[in-house]
Amino acid sequence: MPELPEVETVRRTLNALIKGKQIEHVTVRLARIIQRPDDIQAFAHLLAGHSIIDVQRRGKFLRIVLDGLVLVSHLRMEGRYGLYSSNDPLDKHTHVIFHFTDGSELRYNDVRQFGTMHLFQQDEDLLLAPLNKLGQEPLEPSFTLERFKEIVADKSTKIKSLLLNQEYVVGIGNIYVDESLHRAGIHPEDSAKSLNDKQLDKLYQAIVATLTEAVNAGGSSIKSYVNGQGESGTYQQQLIIYGRKNEPCSSCGTMIEKTVVGGRGTHYCPNCQRPSVT
Ligand SMILES: [Zn+2]
Repeated sequence: MPELPEVETVRRTLNALIKGKQIEHVTVRLARIIQRPDDIQAFAHLLAGHSIIDVQRRGKFLRIVLDGLVLVSHLRMEGRYGLYSSNDPLDKHTHVIFHFTDGSELRYNDVRQFGTMHLFQQDEDLLLAPLNKLGQEPLEPSFTLERFKEIVADKSTKIKSLLLNQEYVVGIGNIYVDESLHRAGIHPEDSAKSLNDKQLDKLYQAIVATLTEAVNAGGSSIKSYVNGQGESGTYQQQLIIYGRKNEPCSSCGTMIEKTVVGGRGTHYCPNCQRPSVT
């Protein structure tokens, strides 16, 4: 599933590709992608004639801002966008097509069909589901060490599970949580409240650094993830713990182990990431 760096890469790419284009009409080929409004004809009718002002991001969601409307899109497992000419042959996994007045088309493909789109009136989307319960953006200036300590304070949840919970901090998924915890030398099953000030400082720095580096590299391309222009991100080669079971830890040479934490496959170094003594 794309995490913050991958969605941010899609956002930047889409902004370069579709900003300023006007929608002539919309074709929905798979109704279940459209979560709001209920009626796909209403969805298409509302969008017709509107222009793309900007493509923004909130957590792992894209916010396609139009004049008077906001389209909130989540790629889930394998959703992807691409810009095509109306003459290009359609793929059987193309589920939504935004036909622009200039003859180009933004196509939404999704082999797994888990992606979602919600259409809102301007200024409505941040107040309603699915965006209204989202927590702190980790790459905004408002994400300070003090703010992070407030979020983590007194919670008995395992730190990995807490970081994956989008109601606390958004955008971090299974790849970047394992990378951040390894970089900070923290065991994924430590309870949040067991972490001392020094550990919280290291974890805060690790989250910001990991996500920033991944954004700068265009994200990772685990499995079939491809960004909006069909290019793969390069951060996959820089992952130091995720997907490296039975390889030596880059810091100490101990074999990396894989376990399950909160139902998620979890990579960690048993030497660098020892459980806190509580
Ligand atoms: Zn190690």
